[in-house]
Amino acid sequence: MTRRRSSESEIRECSFCSRVEAEVKRLIAGPEGVFICNECVDLCRDILQDDRPSLSNAAAVSAKPPLSPREIYGKLDEYVVSQDGAKRVLSVAVYNHYKRIAHRGRTDVELEKANILLVGPTGCGKTLLAQTLAKSLDVPFCIADATALTEAGYVGEDVENILLRLLQAAEFNVPRAERGIVYIDEIDKTARKTGDNPSITRDVSGEGVQQALLKIIEGAAVNVPPQGGRKHPQQEFIQVNTTDVLFICGGTFDGLAQIVAERLGRRGRMGFTGTVTDKSTIKSHESQLLRYITPDDLMRYGMIPELVGRLPVTISIDPLDIHALRAILTEPRNALVRQYQRLFEMDNVELQFDEEALEAAAQLAMEHETGARGLRSTIEGALLDVMYEIPSRPEIRRVNVNADAIHGDSKPQLQDEKGKDLAYLDETLPDAA
Ligand code: ADP
Repeated sequence: MTRRRSSESEIRECSFCSRVEAEVKRLIAGPEGVFICNECVDLCRDILQDDRPSLSNAAAVSAKPPLSPREIYGKLDEYVVSQDGAKRVLSVAVYNHYKRIAHRGRTDVELEKANILLVGPTGCGKTLLAQTLAKSLDVPFCIADATALTEAGYVGEDVENILLRLLQAAEFNVPRAERGIVYIDEIDKTARKTGDNPSITRDVSGEGVQQALLKIIEGAAVNVPPQGGRKHPQQEFIQVNTTDVLFICGGTFDGLAQIVAERLGRRGRMGFTGTVTDKSTIKSHESQLLRYITPDDLMRYGMIPELVGRLPVTISIDPLDIHALRAILTEPRNALVRQYQRLFEMDNVELQFDEEALEAAAQLAMEHETGARGLRSTIEGALLDVMYEIPSRPEIRRVNVNADAIHGDSKPQLQDEKGKDLAYLDETLPDAA
């Protein structure tokens, strides 16, 4: 088609179909007397839409393993301190998971999904590992608490709600949700109470929750009520296929080390002989023992065999020692100290921690036995009064935190621009520590 400049003919027409202004609803002007009509715009849109892969194709394309195990390890390393063994096993397991999705139908061997079980003490990075994985891989992620779940028909949360959260994280893009990661915390609390297990207080209904979880973990088309809550006959379900959703379950599994020790003891391994009941021996060897967990141990603990079978990758998470706790304060990309420093910077204040202060905070966390969880409340407690003063005192330009401030024996030191010490205005504030 030859383009005619409107200036030559004085009649404005579409440069694509030559229809004149009166023949179309809308004529849109481009540069140098070029026009396009609404009908040609519609046509172009249809052509472009046909070129675009469908949503499910798009999902398949991006289901290619996005990062190598080494790259995944590197990402985890930026945020998670220590836990090197866990990072390594996780990065390989997750790489294989996405490789399996990418190669579906291209091999005569069916590659089974390998969901993951993280076993280890509280506050040592189980949730953080799962969360960081999802962030690195740019897939939707949600956390569920197994203790809040119930088997169908009882008061509590239905397992389908977990998938609703995943859908929300994926902004209701179903194919994207179907490749997401779900972290189920406190899975150990669903263990059935048995004579084998010394520390479980939950009754047999935990087994019902395991059965309900099994339904979504093993990979199935699940009807998810978009409003959440109880299923309602009038509600239209969204169907989510969980075949490619990666489930990472976590729990402390108190008492599992004893079961492992007894099994090893029966075989005379690792210096454990006969029935090991000495709690302090077990405690001091706990993290080593948890490296030898077998499916049998988990079943003796009270997990149902079907669920154990669906969690073939078991990873033990080590307790954090004082060096790791100290490192967590400053080394990860979003380390706690860095976060507070940014917060203070917004008020033009430089926040400084003495080395002894950081060690004292790590020591306190060690004593509380809650892993890294206690670190935030310790730092928050030490800085409360300062954060109260700063916004109304522009002369404060520097805050120094020493070990006494961490222990609550004194308050952090305030200084002005020239390094001169400043007093707190309200000395009667309740002691945060
Ligand atoms: P849990 O093992 O109970 O799931 P979390 O992963 O929720 O523990 O850890 C609680 C908080 O402690 C995290 O938000 C994180 O800030 C910090 N944390 C725990 N372990 C680590 C770790 N290994 N490296 C860095 N931060 C950690």
